[in-house]
Amino acid sequence: MSISVDSAAGLAVKAADRAHVFHSWSAQALIDPLAVAGAEGSYFWDYEGNRFLDFSSQLVNTNIGHQHPKVVAAIQEQAAKLCTFAPAFAVDVRSEAARLIAERTPGDLDKIFFTNGGAEANENAIRMARLHTGRQKVMSTYRSYHGATANAIALTGDPRRWANETGVSGIVHFWGPYAYRSSFHAENEAQECERALAHLEATIAFEGPQTVAAIILETVVGTAGILVPPAGYLAGVREICDRHGIVFILDEVMAGFGRTGEWFAADHWDVVPDLLTFAKGVNSGYVPLGGVAISGAIAETFAQRPFPGGLTYSGHPLACASAVATVNAMAEEGIVENAKRLGEDVIGPGLRELAERHPVIGEVRGLGVFWALELVKDRATREALTPYNAAGAAAAPMGELAAACKQRGLWPFVNMNRLHVVPPCNSSEAEVKEGLAILDEVL
Ligand code: PLP
Repeated sequence: MSISVDSAAGLAVKAADRAHVFHSWSAQALIDPLAVAGAEGSYFWDYEGNRFLDFSSQLVNTNIGHQHPKVVAAIQEQAAKLCTFAPAFAVDVRSEAARLIAERTPGDLDKIFFTNGGAEANENAIRMARLHTGRQKVMSTYRSYHGATANAIALTGDPRRWANETGVSGIVHFWGPYAYRSSFHAENEAQECERALAHLEATIAFEGPQTVAAIILETVVGTAGILVPPAGYLAGVREICDRHGIVFILDEVMAGFGRTGEWFAADHWDVVPDLLTFAKGVNSGYVPLGGVAISGAIAETFAQRPFPGGLTYSGHPLACASAVATVNAMAEEGIVENAKRLGEDVIGPGLRELAERHPVIGEVRGLGVFWALELVKDRATREALTPYNAAGAAAAPMGELAAACKQRGLWPFVNMNRLHVVPPCNSSEAEVKEGLAILDEVL
């Protein structure tokens, strides 16, 4: 890591940023973005020589950390060979990326439609579902994030949807399982599962099953709280979809490619959706890439009939080369297994130990390298440390907690009253322990 101090360069980067970059999800005048000078593995650093352990994996996408040498080399080699080629052509790295992904997706999800990211993957998945079924409605949960494009933000349940409404037609929200704050007054996980399924069934009945094209769920809800579904829930949704001829879409944009300690989170429950969307971890975001893995039956719908959708950069060679190198590196280096072991042996026990010492922790939940601490004012009432506010922003003390982490060299992922612990899948045990020790001190 070549970390040096160059304050003048940092100030110049920041000045140009403040003058010309329009940032996502922000009031432009109220933000103060860190100027980043470099990154390697689980760390990045600024122009002042401050180094940060990246416990956020950026936007939970750098599953193999920063600047993995095999992936950087693959992008460089591909750039020298063929930078871009239209989606209508067969290109070696595109075919190989599709083959490697299809080999790992569950069941018969054997055809891959490439996009530039997660929201576009969800847009195209619901387009496929609507055309496949001839129905219009799509159902998603209130506690979800599916992206920022038109349909994807309308499907999204979290408060970021509000500012984007009036939304689009044909979207129906329902409550998914969340035992810690049960919408169904359930007293345990089994009851939560049973009641959440009954609620979904009732919602479908009142919407009219013959009008519902698809149900889209995050296999493990990510940004909206790292909500691990209770045993039986996903199988129950699968059964409901089958009974009503509804397409089941699993959004694995955040949970896929090793994050939960399996290639796909669906593997934990042996559930096979009809469509599975992915992005982020497929190539750690080194070049924008996402996609939809498509079942045999849905692919067949478009065997003789054109699929009316496409993107100029679908299956971009640089992105596909980086995906091939990422998937191969993950397999060669046992990165998925590492994520599983870190979750079982280090992060899970480490966070539970923190909960024993810090009463502000209401619940610890997660798996692999995908964990949340839910912070509360009072364990008995479960009142959230920071209530929801209209802006959806983390108000004090969550903002102060994030600042205290950064002062100690830890870059956290904070959302609402939660601290998400989402380091890269190939983090070392020592790195994770370093981060947990900082959290202990800050809490
Ligand atoms: N779906 C999920 C579950 C996500 O977490 C995200 C992004 O965080 C998206 C979709 C949107 O992906 P993108 O930002 O690449 O469009």
